[in-house]
Amino acid sequence: MIYHDKAPTLEETRTDQPPAYPLSHPAAAREINNRPGHRKVPAPLPACTLLDKARNFKTAAQLREIGLYPYFRTISSAQDTEVMIEGKKVLMLGSNSYLGLTNHPKIKEAARAAVEKYGTGCAGSRFLNGTLDIHLELESALAKLVNKEAVLLYSTGFQVNLGVISALVGKGEYVLGDKSNHASIVEGCLLSQGKFLRFAHKDMAALESRLQKLEPEAGKLIVADGVFSMEGDIIQLPELCRIANQHGAAVMVDDAHAIGVLGRNGAGTPSHFGVTDQVHLIMGTFSKSLASLGGFIAADGGTIDYLKHHSRALIFSASMSPANAAAVLAALQIMLAEPERSAQLWRNTRRMKQGLRELGFDLGDSETPILPVYCGNLMLAFKMCKRLQDEGLFVNPVVSPAVAPGQELIRVSLMATHTDKQVDFALDKLGKVGKELGLI
Ligand code: PMP
Repeated sequence: MIYHDKAPTLEETRTDQPPAYPLSHPAAAREINNRPGHRKVPAPLPACTLLDKARNFKTAAQLREIGLYPYFRTISSAQDTEVMIEGKKVLMLGSNSYLGLTNHPKIKEAARAAVEKYGTGCAGSRFLNGTLDIHLELESALAKLVNKEAVLLYSTGFQVNLGVISALVGKGEYVLGDKSNHASIVEGCLLSQGKFLRFAHKDMAALESRLQKLEPEAGKLIVADGVFSMEGDIIQLPELCRIANQHGAAVMVDDAHAIGVLGRNGAGTPSHFGVTDQVHLIMGTFSKSLASLGGFIAADGGTIDYLKHHSRALIFSASMSPANAAAVLAALQIMLAEPERSAQLWRNTRRMKQGLRELGFDLGDSETPILPVYCGNLMLAFKMCKRLQDEGLFVNPVVSPAVAPGQELIRVSLMATHTDKQVDFALDKLGKVGKELGLI
């Protein structure tokens, strides 16, 4: 490695001070990285225009400067209803752990046992050396849950959308997506060789008119979030399926935010509407209700077999780690054995929603535990976020491109394990900060 000429040598920089924390503590790494003596000044790199955009990117730095930067906040505890940030306990209202399972002792134990039995990684893709018996067990359990013939696991939910859509939609074919679809769906559509068409959010007439203009014999896929991740509303799946059927299109639903939340036993949006037999592909993630990391696609056996041999995001990426797979299996068991969790999630949602409405917040069309509090202004969303954290609440700001400019919001999401006291505390603080900033 080449360092700047004038940089002190290692010998000169040695401070011989013991770190303030044992080395395994994350603060220790930060502390050492930040010691002036340990910072190396690299020599200027050869000029290149490619990185000009990075050098000119100032937005994040400007937000940091005025103390409103809301991203990459460091949590030093488990993801639970309360988390530790900079040594302070904060009420978590920005998590996707809808069933509150991320810190569950039985799930943690299952992950530990899997590490003991299988080690820490699979060191290869499902295609070659990375298929474990627990991957197959999990695929069967998920197929049963969502009532489809077969399931295929991927290492993240993002990869499912990327790998499935790009493998299925070929040249001369079409993929039609709702404008509010998740970024991973959009990336999958862009990566496909087919033509990507969008329709206005939940506008079924717009979808139909798009389809009417396409060659009837061409392959078509309609893809939408079951529950929209930022707005918290639900796709009109029966209507979408009816239109798809009329035009010979396949239907794919991204149920990242619906598994564990909607439908029989938490089976998601198709089950919620009773249209599972009209939905060709159901996608889900493990990073939300199922307390882990990874994702799945459920479909008929033939489609899954095709994906197993054509989906590059699956074939050329290492398989889900044993601990992750075992955690999902344990989380599924708990989800099925304890339906009261989902019931409590909905009770919490109703309590929070009613309270927010009474305070005068605009919650849009949310129908789920994702409650968007519309701010309609970028800086207001950032200020809300900052002031709420000062008051002990963690919420997420959602700004363009995740939502259209002018639709900025703070996203409040509930967990089954929030207590009434926590919900009331949150309402009190949201009311206080909302008034202070003129939002209500
Ligand atoms: N789809 C939707 C709707 C999502 O919200 C997310 C994650 N935010 C994903 C897919 C990607 O899932 P993962 O985080 O498991 O990669």
